[in-house]
Amino acid sequence: MVCKGERVLVGLSGGKDSVVALYLLKKIAGHVADFHAVLIDEGIPGYRDRAIKRGIEACEKIGVGYTVVSAEKEVGYSMQDVFGLIEKNPKLGSSCGFCGVFRREILNRVAVEGGYSKLATGHNLDDEAQSIAMNLFTGDLCRLVRLGPVTGSAKVDGFVPRIKPLVECPEMEVVAYANLLKLPHYSDECCPFSWMAKRNHFRKLINELEDVLPGSKYALLSTFRQLKPVLEKDAGIKKGDARKCVLCGNNTTQRVCGVCRVIEKLKMGRDVGAGDSVVVGNGKKGLSCVETKRNVKKF
Ligand code: SF4
Repeated sequence: MVCKGERVLVGLSGGKDSVVALYLLKKIAGHVADFHAVLIDEGIPGYRDRAIKRGIEACEKIGVGYTVVSAEKEVGYSMQDVFGLIEKNPKLGSSCGFCGVFRREILNRVAVEGGYSKLATGHNLDDEAQSIAMNLFTGDLCRLVRLGPVTGSAKVDGFVPRIKPLVECPEMEVVAYANLLKLPHYSDECCPFSWMAKRNHFRKLINELEDVLPGSKYALLSTFRQLKPVLEKDAGIKKGDARKCVLCGNNTTQRVCGVCRVIEKLKMGRDVGAGDSVVVGNGKKGLSCVETKRNVKKF
C-alpha cells in the first residue's frame, strides 16, 4: 500500500481505528515513507473537539506532524449548523450523509494541495463489511466498486489514491491493540448525531450474523473482492471521468461535485442531487455513473 519515498496523508478522527492505522503505518513503513495526519473538525461540540485533542496526543506520542482543518471554514457549514437545518426539515435526511461528503472532499483537497501521493484512513473490517452490505442493499453498484483496500488511481488528476491498511482487522482486535499499546484515543461518548446513521442497522445485522455464523464479515469482504473485477470489467460498472465541478471548479467525477450538491440541498431544503449516483445507461457498452439531465436542469 505504501511505496518507498511516498508522502502519505493519514485521516485521523482521534478514534482507535485511525490512531492504530497511523501507529502501524509509521512503525512498518516510517523508515521508507513520510506520514502526516489531518484532523477534520466537523463542528460537533463536545464530541469532535475532544476526539481531536486525543488525536493530537496520539500524533505527539507516535511522532507524526498534524494539521487540523475546520469543515466550517472549508465548506461553510459546521455539522451543528447542518443538524439545525435537519431539525427544521427532517426530509433533508441524516447528518451523516452530509458529514461524509464534507469529510471526503476535505481529505482529498488537503491531500492534493499538500502534494501527498496517498491518503490513508482507519477503516476496519467491520466498517468495510457494513459499507459493502449497504451498497448491495441499496443497489448502488457504482459506490460498491469504489470500495476496497486501495482505491483511486495516481493517474487521475485531482484525486489522491486511498488506502485502508486495517481493512482486514476486525474492530474488536483494533480496540484490543489500541488498549494493549496504550495509544491515546477517544473512546467516550459517540457522536450525538450517530443515532441517525443508516449504518447502525447494518452494523447490528452483520454483528448478529457474525455471532451465529463466525467469519461472515471476512466472507462478505472476500465475496466483494471476487465481485469487484467482474463488476468493473464484465459489467462495465465504473465511475465517471475526472472533471471540474461546474459550480465550484473542484475536482469531481460528476458535473456538480458532492459538496455543491449537498450544499444546494441544504439551501433549497430538498434533495436536488437525487439520482446523481444511480446507475444509468450511457448508451455505450456497460454502465457508468453520470448525472441525469433532470439534475443538471435543476442547477
Ligand atoms: S456519526 Fe455521522 S455526523 Fe457523527 S461524525 Fe460520524 S458521520 Fe459525522
